[in-house]
Amino acid sequence: MKAVRFHEHGGPEVLRYEDAPDPVIAPHEVLVRVKACALNHLDVWTRKGMPGVKVPLPHISGCDIAGEVAGLGSIVTRIKTGQPVVVSPGISCGQCAHCLSGRDNLCRSYEIIGGYRIDGGYAEYVKVPEVNILPLPEGMTFEAAAAIPLTFLTAWNMLVTLARVRTGEDVLVMGAGSGVGSAAVQIAKLFGARVIATASTEDKLEKAKGLGADEGIDYTTQDLVAEVRRLTARRGVDVIFEHVGGPVFEKLIPALAAGGRLVTCGATAGYLVQTDLRYLFMRQVAIMGAHMGSKADLFEIMREVERGRLKPVVDRVFPLKEASEAQRVMEDRRVFGKLVLVT
Ligand code: ZN
Repeated sequence: MKAVRFHEHGGPEVLRYEDAPDPVIAPHEVLVRVKACALNHLDVWTRKGMPGVKVPLPHISGCDIAGEVAGLGSIVTRIKTGQPVVVSPGISCGQCAHCLSGRDNLCRSYEIIGGYRIDGGYAEYVKVPEVNILPLPEGMTFEAAAAIPLTFLTAWNMLVTLARVRTGEDVLVMGAGSGVGSAAVQIAKLFGARVIATASTEDKLEKAKGLGADEGIDYTTQDLVAEVRRLTARRGVDVIFEHVGGPVFEKLIPALAAGGRLVTCGATAGYLVQTDLRYLFMRQVAIMGAHMGSKADLFEIMREVERGRLKPVVDRVFPLKEASEAQRVMEDRRVFGKLVLVT
């Protein structure tokens, strides 16, 4: 098959469009002919290499996959050849207390398809366990479906499962132009919150409002915390949806209302931050970390997408062989929503 692989860590130029061995499926696995695969920042981190994380090389990235079933393992029962499907990206043991309680993303053996150790969807074919297969909703394109799993799962887990967002609450969504941010704006609105979106350009703020955001703050020109206080009559926001980290994170804690919750799933601007603990105990706020979401959440998300209440946001589509250019565009942040590779 053709695939985009890297044989060494480095810049986008290490991505090679080349021949690779066809995946060989185990009895419980399904072979998927990839039609579309969305990009995530995880792809860039894996390509660059992370301290302490060993990536078997050569490696195929790509966690968000939609396609058609091309082969079935001997004990697969639920799936049919030729069926259009979308792939749930998390793989876990299926046997531990976390897995059995429906929080498979807490499993000790949790891995992401196309993450650090498992080959993903920057290829013509990928193998995945049968339990990771969901039917593609009728009428949905492969590109739109591929733009859903990782970002919507993460945003749903953060806002619904962890922060327990409620009707009438104020939610601050950081980086609303990103894949995860554009999902968060929609999920917060779905649950009846007032959404304050932040982004780096006016254009991105306008697009966030198109997805339902009520207010916008340009964090490059406006004082984020002062604006939050103005928009909430000095009360602060109930929920902060965070994935930026660094110096911005330090400023955000005082923007939380009493009883507020900050949920974070990333730190693109830096991992180490200082915080004044008095805000935590005096205002009784919570800081929570999130990584992906449960398999079950994806069923709920797909149902809302089918009803038209959540919409995958596809910015641009690239042919598979232009994966390195697509990653460049994502790294330069010249994007609103998702970038998708098609084969
Ligand atoms: Zn488990």
